[in-house]
Amino acid sequence: MSNLLSVDTALERMLKDFQPLSPEEITLDEALGRVLSSDIVSPVNIPAFANASMDGFAVRAEETTSAQTEFPLSLPISMDIPAGTFPEKSLSPGTVARIMTGAPIPDGANAVIPVELTDAFWTINAQETLPESVALKQAARRGDNIRLIGEDIQIGQVVISADTVLRAEEIGVLASIGRGRLLVYRRPRVAIVSTGDELVDIHDQLQRGQIYDSNSYALAALVESYGGTCVRLPIARDTVSDVRAAFLSALEHDPDIIISSAGVSVGAFDVVRTVINGLGRVDFWKINVRPGKPLAYGRVGEVPYFGLPGNPVSAMVTFDLFVRPAICRLAGRSLDVPTIMATTGEDIYSDGRRSYLRVRLIHTDGEYIAHLTGTQSSGALTSMVKADGLLVVPEDVKFVPAGTQLSVRKLRTF
Ligand code: AMP
Ligand code: MG
Repeated sequence: MSNLLSVDTALERMLKDFQPLSPEEITLDEALGRVLSSDIVSPVNIPAFANASMDGFAVRAEETTSAQTEFPLSLPISMDIPAGTFPEKSLSPGTVARIMTGAPIPDGANAVIPVELTDAFWTINAQETLPESVALKQAARRGDNIRLIGEDIQIGQVVISADTVLRAEEIGVLASIGRGRLLVYRRPRVAIVSTGDELVDIHDQLQRGQIYDSNSYALAALVESYGGTCVRLPIARDTVSDVRAAFLSALEHDPDIIISSAGVSVGAFDVVRTVINGLGRVDFWKINVRPGKPLAYGRVGEVPYFGLPGNPVSAMVTFDLFVRPAICRLAGRSLDVPTIMATTGEDIYSDGRRSYLRVRLIHTDGEYIAHLTGTQSSGALTSMVKADGLLVVPEDVKFVPAGTQLSVRKLRTF
């Protein structure tokens, strides 16, 4: 076991090669999933002005104390304040202003009485002539139904901080402060090469003995789900000339990372090793991990290179362990993976390597039970489809009885 590199050591060595990419400017409608590269400071207060949170009547609260359902208080209406207008005068003492939700509170008023607590009729398009007076059926307290200036966001406040992944929530806030352009980290560009004499693209005809290339599609989807963009190169046959041509055309796309899959198992590695050694350099690592012991890491030209195993589950799991953190580092994203403790639902045998087993999580009686998703063959991709996460069986453990607490790395939820 000692000649195998631990997952943590391998990751630590690789991550030294990655720093966040330089920022670029985008418009707000391109912002979903992008990562802010600097703090956003609000140039405005939100609300920008005190406004009504209900349709009703702006009043001076102290003038309404006698209003009750049985003895409504009738007051003259001296102003009408539809949304989108701004009251130029202050509210005359002893009068009220008809006001719409979101419309500015006039100076002098300090509360809003909702229309439901008056005798007024209100249609959505209240274009009818303003009644002369209104009967208030309830007294107001100061501040009732008023949204104060700056109650959500204050001028000068950091409203979204650097390194935030922008979701609908942040995008809404940025629009509310009128922020149309943003600096975000550039998306990592990743070139993906599948190697193998048996592989056929999904658009081509399968012959006996051949299989479809699934890795380049699954890996491209993973790259994109962590904020990268991809180029999938044509499948390379297991020859030095074909693999070399594939890496050279990968370089033409000016990628930040090059990934290949397959051809790193013992015996098969020579082709890839020969090519990469010619174009850059390669370290071949045997990692204390299951699935996915063999992994190549190095450079193609100056570009960081990951040679992942060919088995589809191994390719996805090693991507999650090693490539995802590299992409996240480039993209300015957190490297953390949501991890929970779960109770194993069955006896599990392992081989002493750190193992990442596909599990479904079932929440029962306040705890998560982790059930293996059927066969754990590294060729069985549906075990990934069914999985909520990867159960981590530590190194040097060969048997885990049912009922053991272990950690589970959650897989993405979309
Ligand atoms: P290798 O690393 O070349 O020994 O491949 C290991 C296993 O992964 C073999 O069963 C291959 O057929 C399979 N494999 C390799 N590349 C791919 C791919 N791109 N898509 C699906 N399966 C693959
Ligand atoms: Mg092969």
